[in-house]
Amino acid sequence: MTPRNFREDFPILKREVHPSVPLVYLDSAATSQKPETVLAAMDEYYRRNNANIHRGVHVLAEEATRAYEDAREKIARFINAEKSREIIYTRNTTEAINLVAYSWGRAFLKKGDLVVLTEMEHHSNLVPWYILAEQTGIELAHVAVTGDGLLDPDDYASKLARFPKVVAFTHMSNVLGTINPVAEMAAAARKAGAITLVDGAQAVPHMPVDVQALGVDFYAFSGHKMCGPTGIGILYGREELLKAMPPFLGGGDMIKRVELGRFVANELPYKFEAGTPAIAEAIGLGAAVDYLSVIGMDVIHEHEKALIHYAIDRLEEVPGVKVFGPSADKKGGVAAFTFDGVHPHDVAEILDRRGIAVRAGHHCAMPLHQKFDIPATARASFYLYNEKAEIDLLIEGLYEVKKTFHS
Ligand code: PMP
Repeated sequence: MTPRNFREDFPILKREVHPSVPLVYLDSAATSQKPETVLAAMDEYYRRNNANIHRGVHVLAEEATRAYEDAREKIARFINAEKSREIIYTRNTTEAINLVAYSWGRAFLKKGDLVVLTEMEHHSNLVPWYILAEQTGIELAHVAVTGDGLLDPDDYASKLARFPKVVAFTHMSNVLGTINPVAEMAAAARKAGAITLVDGAQAVPHMPVDVQALGVDFYAFSGHKMCGPTGIGILYGREELLKAMPPFLGGGDMIKRVELGRFVANELPYKFEAGTPAIAEAIGLGAAVDYLSVIGMDVIHEHEKALIHYAIDRLEEVPGVKVFGPSADKKGGVAAFTFDGVHPHDVAEILDRRGIAVRAGHHCAMPLHQKFDIPATARASFYLYNEKAEIDLLIEGLYEVKKTFHS
């Protein structure tokens, strides 16, 4: 299959912006576009099966429940979870991480316990722990990022030597593109007696992920970055840990029984799914998993590797452009860069006039930008539907930036 075939699956990629400029969408790290099959699955659910789940005995309720639970099975297979009850539906990665920090953290951490994070985390894998630290007095440490955008292995070892209770880190940085050695890091954390939580928001959409092979305890990701809808995310957790945790939110569906003044929590995974969930969105995510599986995650990963190698080579040709992060062989399809003397927002605005969508700002990783002593970067990010010709258009746009600001 060529990238051209993938593009045809995405109706939005046919549209033009700013009358008659074709859209060049290079912002998939923020959110991906959706293929026809995902839109159709959600449309079909609302047109034919719409009902609340787990509650009714009528036909529609049974169909809706089956579709919602089938999606869970697909997602479990997609990341090779041992059991589908280890797959908890959340709203997004952010909520999945908050669930662990709140529920596991409050039950099993106490004042003085150490949680190890890294300097390259998205705010969603920092702030939940900072909130917990304010409330419980846990200690925090951050593994240093090297100048070329990798986690410093010596610093990691020195943090583990302090016997943390939790190590929480990203699989792939949304700014540097760095792909961290998750299996190796998780094994070292386990040896030190810590549980691991991995933020897979930028990994699951772009490469094969096998949670059992990685040896992680918790793994979080978002549907909207992997061709699925917004409003649905996943927390994978090892059954033993999930079983021991108290519920996160209370209400309908998460209980087995309620009497005045007391409740008995439901079984997994329902214990963590209070209230009417995002049913259409879960079904949409199941369709996204089908879509990605048919293509093959290794095919998608290879395609993006070719794009990032090409993008880095071409970006480095442009005088004044500095790309952050490691060399292309150590990163996924994300290129964050600065342009000498030009604010990233101005870069993004000039590109936008040419129909090219990139993101400018701190990308919810302010500490990482502080580390590199820059307020912001512009970021181009790629997915299966992008092609080299779009990178050529990005480079042409950057030459226009240069002409506008440097002449
Ligand atoms: N972690 C990483 C690495 C991300 O890139 C993102 C999204 N930018 C998130 C977490 C948060 O994802 P969401 O907003 O879907 O919760």
